[in-house]
Amino acid sequence: MSTHRIETDYLVVGAGATAMAFIDTLLSETDAQIVVVDRQHRPGGHWNRAYPFVRLHQPSAFYGVGSRELSDWTKDTAGVNAGLYSLASGAEVLAYFDHVMQQRFLTSGRVLWLPMSDYSTAADGSHQVKSLTSGETQEIVVRKRLVDATHARTEVPSTHPPKYSVSSQVTCVPVNRLPEINRPYAAYSVVGSGKTGMDACIWLLENGTPPSRIRWIMPRDAWLLDRANFQPGADDFDTFVNSVIGQFEVMASIHSIDDLLPELERRGLLARIDTTVEPRTYRCAVVSQGELAQLRRIEGIVRMGRLRSIEQTQVVLDQGNLPADPDTLYVDCSAGGLQPPPNVPVFDGKRINLLMVRTCQPVFSAALIAFVESHVQDSSQQNALCQVVPSPEHPIDWLRMWAVNLANGARWAQNPKLSAWLGQCRLNFIAPIMRGVHKSDTAKFERLNVMGAKGREAAARLPVLMAQITQ
Ligand SMILES: Cc1cc2nc3c(=O)[nH]c(=O)nc-3n(C[C@H](O)[C@H](O)[C@H](O)COP(=O)(O)OP(=O)(O)OC[C@H]3O[C@@H](n4cnc5c(N)ncnc54)[C@H](O)[C@@H]3O)c2cc1C
Repeated sequence: MSTHRIETDYLVVGAGATAMAFIDTLLSETDAQIVVVDRQHRPGGHWNRAYPFVRLHQPSAFYGVGSRELSDWTKDTAGVNAGLYSLASGAEVLAYFDHVMQQRFLTSGRVLWLPMSDYSTAADGSHQVKSLTSGETQEIVVRKRLVDATHARTEVPSTHPPKYSVSSQVTCVPVNRLPEINRPYAAYSVVGSGKTGMDACIWLLENGTPPSRIRWIMPRDAWLLDRANFQPGADDFDTFVNSVIGQFEVMASIHSIDDLLPELERRGLLARIDTTVEPRTYRCAVVSQGELAQLRRIEGIVRMGRLRSIEQTQVVLDQGNLPADPDTLYVDCSAGGLQPPPNVPVFDGKRINLLMVRTCQPVFSAALIAFVESHVQDSSQQNALCQVVPSPEHPIDWLRMWAVNLANGARWAQNPKLSAWLGQCRLNFIAPIMRGVHKSDTAKFERLNVMGAKGREAAARLPVLMAQITQ
C-alpha cells in the first residue's frame, strides 16, 4: 500500500463532540490548518451508535460548538421534560455536527476531514492514518500539536456486549433494539442503573408498558441532578443562581462531609429515586421531576448487586437468585458510558488531551482548551488554567469536582481575555442566561456578586472538607 505525507498545524484524533467544539474555537481564534480523523463515517462520535430514542440530558442551548446554535429555544410543553428547554435528539445532534463539518469546517478551507480512518502512532513516533476502506496509509506531519479527542472511550450497549451470561433460551437485546419490539412480552427487565437504564424504563412506560410488568435491575442507586436547576433562559436566572449559591452555602456551612449529601438533598440540589436507599454512586446524571415521577412508578427495583446470569426461569445476582417469567424481554443498558480519564495533563508536550476542566461539561471544556491553546503560550500557564476535573464515580466526587472547578474558575477570572471570551461563549452555561439580562437589572447583578462571594467562602472552606475524605 502506498503512503502519502500531509503537513498540518494540528492533527485531531476523533471527530466526536469534544473534537468538534475544539476545532470550532481554534478556527475562530487562529489561522491554523487542521486535519481531523475518525474511524466513523461522520462526526458526532458515540452519538452515531446511541439508542434511537436518546436525547441530550442537558439543554441543547449550551451543547455543540461555540459558533452555532443547537437549540431552537423552545420549552417542551408535554412529556417528562415539560416546562423545561428542549433536549436535542440523537438524530438532531448528528445532523448538527454534520452541518458544522460541511458548512463551517470544510468551507473554511483550513480543515481536512479524513472519515473512515484509523489513527495510530508508529514505532518511530510518527503519526499514521490508515483508511478503513482503501487500506492506504498517510503520514501526518504535525507542526504544532496532536489533539487526542478519544479519551471519553464512550461505551454503549450496541458495541459492548453484557458482562453477564445469557441463556440461549431467553431474549436479551441491547437498548438500541428496544423500539423493534413487535409483540407484547409478559415481563420486561431493564439491566443497568445509569442514565441509559433510566431512559429505557421511561421509554417502556411512555409506550404503554404497565409499571407492574417492568423489573429494573439496579446494582447501585445514584445521586441525580435536577435539570430545572440549570435552565438557560433569562426567566430561569433566579433558579440557576440560587442553586449555585445553595451549593456554595452547603460547602461553607457544613462541619462534616457526612452532612454534605443530606444537606444538598434537603435543598433540592441532589435527588434520588428512593429516599430510603443510600445511593452509592454519582455520575452527573441529569433528570427532570417528570422523569423522577415516572421512575418512581416502578416498584420492581432489584437491588441485589450485579447481574451474573440470565436463565430461562431465574436471574442470578451477586446477592441471590430471583424467579423470572420465561417470556421476559431483557434490555441491556449495562455498558459503562464514559470511562475515567487517564492521569495526564491537558497540555502534554506536543500533545493536547481533551479532558474536562469543568464538571460534566465536555464540549465547553474542549472549547476552553482551544481558546487557551490559541492565546496562552507557556505550557505551565496553560495547564494552570486547565486543571483536569476528576470524573465522577463515588458520591463524594461531587466535592472533589467542585474543588477543581472553583480553582480553575478563580484563575480564569484573573485572565481578562479569557474572561471576555467566557462572557460570550454559548457553551458556558451562564452566558446564554446572561444574554437575556438587561444591564439595568441591578438586582440580578447583585445576585451574581453574592454568588461570587459565596464561591470564595466555599473555596476557603474546601481544604477542611477535602481533608475529611477517606474514600
Ligand atoms: C446518552 C448520553 C447523553 C449525553 N448527554 C449529554 C448532554 O446533554 N450534555 C453534555 O455535555 N454531555 C452529554 N453526554 C456526554 C457525551 O459523551 C459528551 O458530550 C461527548 O459526546 C463525548 O464526546 P467525545 O468527543 O469526548 O467522545 P466520543 O463521542 O466517544 O468520540 C470519540 C471519537 O474518537 C474516535 N476514535 C477513537 N480512537 C480512534 C482512532 N485510533 N482513530 C480514529 N478515530 C478514533 C471514535 O470513533 C469516536 O468517534 C452524554 C452522553 C451520553 C452517553
